[in-house]
Amino acid sequence: MNPIIKAENLTFSYPGDEETKPVRALCGVSFEIPEGSFTAVLGHNGSGKSTLAKLLCMVNLPDSGRLWVAGREITSPDADESDVLKARRDVGMVFQNPDNQIVATIVEEDVAFGCENLGIPPAEIRRRVDDALAAVGMTEYARKQTYNLSGGQKQRVAIAGTIAMNRRCVIFDESTAMLDPMGRREVMEIIRKLNREQGVTVLLITHHMNEAALADRIIVMNEGAIYLDGSPRDVFGNPAAMWAAGLDVPQTTELAYKLGKHGVDVPLDLFDPDACAKAVADAVRRKRKPTGGGKS
Ligand code: ADP
Ligand code: MG
Repeated sequence: MNPIIKAENLTFSYPGDEETKPVRALCGVSFEIPEGSFTAVLGHNGSGKSTLAKLLCMVNLPDSGRLWVAGREITSPDADESDVLKARRDVGMVFQNPDNQIVATIVEEDVAFGCENLGIPPAEIRRRVDDALAAVGMTEYARKQTYNLSGGQKQRVAIAGTIAMNRRCVIFDESTAMLDPMGRREVMEIIRKLNREQGVTVLLITHHMNEAALADRIIVMNEGAIYLDGSPRDVFGNPAAMWAAGLDVPQTTELAYKLGKHGVDVPLDLFDPDACAKAVADAVRRKRKPTGGGKS
């Protein structure tokens, strides 16, 4: 199967002006994203995550390198406007600030906005908006004012907009960063459902290691390049590499790693706290057994 996104050696610099020097934000980034996959992108501030997201959404064009979206090379000298337009429809983005996502005063009008721009017939838009609102659990808010919604609800409305447009790939650029823990959980649940049930390819840029642990794959960016790329188990299984880049690992992984140093053997990839707690209890029991004489 064709990857939904293929990037080959992408570079990008922000041009400077009289007061600022040019900034090299990406230097030779290559990867393939299989359609239907769920990839988390980690990296500290300034590592190039948002710049990469903007290239993948065609907000900016790379300075060099090649980029394919759904099999069409949009960086090809032969690519015409319709190729770029199709690619732009396939890949959408949800940003960090819930207040910047909303363009209409009524929820269902906001969800319909993108479809209206695509010139989709009104009856079809109606159907898509209803389905999209149901998918994010916001049906009862269809006629409500958008300004009254919580941050998590606003992000769900923004996601409904991308569902209504039938996006094949959605990039979430720290879309949970400004939410409270409950809003974050709500939005993460919807993102996972979008991926699992609708087959939408998800790229999740996040600072939350427990969110990244839910992905099939983690790409770690550092200084404009890919630093690590693998399953959560591979990436977090090497906490020293993450720490060397100034990044965290999930708390369960850190605990397991430090227990390991004290001779208590717990897998590093039990990201669920309950599963980790059980493994710790089992490991401690195992460790006690030989000397405990079977009393406990
Ligand atoms: P991240 O999303 O990982 O925090 P960014 O992609 O936003 O990183 O930034 C990568 C680099 O590009 C940083 O050095 C940042 O300062 C610089 N940068 C980002 N946006 C701009 C801009 N609009 N103009 C100039 N430099 C920028
Ligand atoms: Mg960013």
